[in-house]
Amino acid sequence: PERVNSKGWDLTHTPTLAEIFNSRTVLQNAKFKGHALTTAAHKYPKAKLQNAQPVKNPAMPGDVVGQVQVATEKEIATALDTATPWQADVATRAEILNAAADAFEANAGELFAILTREAGKSLPDAVAELREAVDFLRYYAAQATSQQQARGIWTCISPWNFPLAIFTGQIAAALAAGNAVLAKPAEQTPLIATRATALLHDAGVPPSALQLLPGGGDVGAALTADARINGVAFTGSTATAMKIRSTMAANCAPGTPLIAETGGLNAMIVDSTALPEHAVRDIINGAFQSAGQRCSALRCLYVQEDIADNLLKMLKGAMNELNVGDPWHLSTDVGPVIDEAAYTGIANHIAQAASEGRILHQIKVPSTGYFIAPTAIRIDGIADMTKEIFGPVLHVATFKSSELDDVINAINATGYGLTFGLHTRIDDRVQTIVEKVHAGNIYVNRDQIGAIVGSQPFGGEGLSGTGPKAGGPHYLPRFAARPAPQTET
Ligand code: GLU
Repeated sequence: PERVNSKGWDLTHTPTLAEIFNSRTVLQNAKFKGHALTTAAHKYPKAKLQNAQPVKNPAMPGDVVGQVQVATEKEIATALDTATPWQADVATRAEILNAAADAFEANAGELFAILTREAGKSLPDAVAELREAVDFLRYYAAQATSQQQARGIWTCISPWNFPLAIFTGQIAAALAAGNAVLAKPAEQTPLIATRATALLHDAGVPPSALQLLPGGGDVGAALTADARINGVAFTGSTATAMKIRSTMAANCAPGTPLIAETGGLNAMIVDSTALPEHAVRDIINGAFQSAGQRCSALRCLYVQEDIADNLLKMLKGAMNELNVGDPWHLSTDVGPVIDEAAYTGIANHIAQAASEGRILHQIKVPSTGYFIAPTAIRIDGIADMTKEIFGPVLHVATFKSSELDDVINAINATGYGLTFGLHTRIDDRVQTIVEKVHAGNIYVNRDQIGAIVGSQPFGGEGLSGTGPKAGGPHYLPRFAARPAPQTET
């Protein structure tokens, strides 16, 4: 049945969880085609899309979820010309962001469906992601104050791995401070961004204060190379962040802020006093949840030699229990990786390790879709890892008790500093290691993913980002200009 309003959105029917779990028809009924572009000049264009590109389901690449029209040069120019900082007073802005949070919750079923089908999110991941997006809206709404002065126009460039939460978090902070936002969602996930933008507009955010410009690197480059931009928030690769920094240096006013949250080569140390079943559970979560597609994910496990045989045996057993498959099913633990390029890059890395005889363990996966088998690879140490492998691949090294300092030095020497995990039951050791390791988020005797807005601000140092941490008290103030200094007479 057609349940679509004049904008093309299915707003008359919020699918129940039972409908979502039992059927794929909910999304097929919603008309995503033709609505992945919002500019101040024309919101939700009804015109036929020019050069529309298909958005594909990573679990079933033959399944086209919708179409996206990449923003044209002209549309980018119009967006820059028409972007207008949000004039409403601070109380109104906070009220509207809270209303958007309510709308996100009211449309939960539909958002889960899009996250699952467009981004390959497992249902538990989709639930956690919506919760984080709602938390960001409410947290920054609560932090907005009349002391903050908008900087002007912010470009917000968000990643496909948290296409709702990070997309919303950047925008919510910029809007709470009264700025205008030009949002460029990841190329792979424009549909969830479109839906979130529509909910924000419907809640009362003026279209001139929030414009969505879908596209790839070209669109991102155009939106960071303009003197009218007063700040850029970016989450993605370290390499792209560096490009953005040089583009901004050449084109924007000196001092224009860049808030970048980038990659990591995240380690966990498990010493011989760790509780093995506890450590194994946290290793599995850190390395394989979200198919390893979190910048916080565990990439390199260091196990003390004395317990390595036992721990690795338990780890293999736990890996065998992972269900890899259709993210639509509640029983699925590990869904697909995002697209063909990701699949090929990760598969090549695993093939290289296999050719060197370094596969410790690998489980079986479905043969269609971009599913990567959760894999453990033996390495000598983190220095062997030259790049972040953004998938369900765990690298494992062992260390002797006398080598603990060398391990910490090697972890710090990567230059990244995002998350770090430690399993030990020696209190003194916690203290010394936490002091020595360079990482933005350190987790002791738990997994190292899933930071919570408000209580665990998230972000790294070194190659992992500029700070300030998202979901923490210092984030929103960076989107605002300092009040003009009082001149003494
Ligand atoms: N905040 C997420 C976590 O703590 C990771 C965000 C990211 O992957 O960019 O797991």
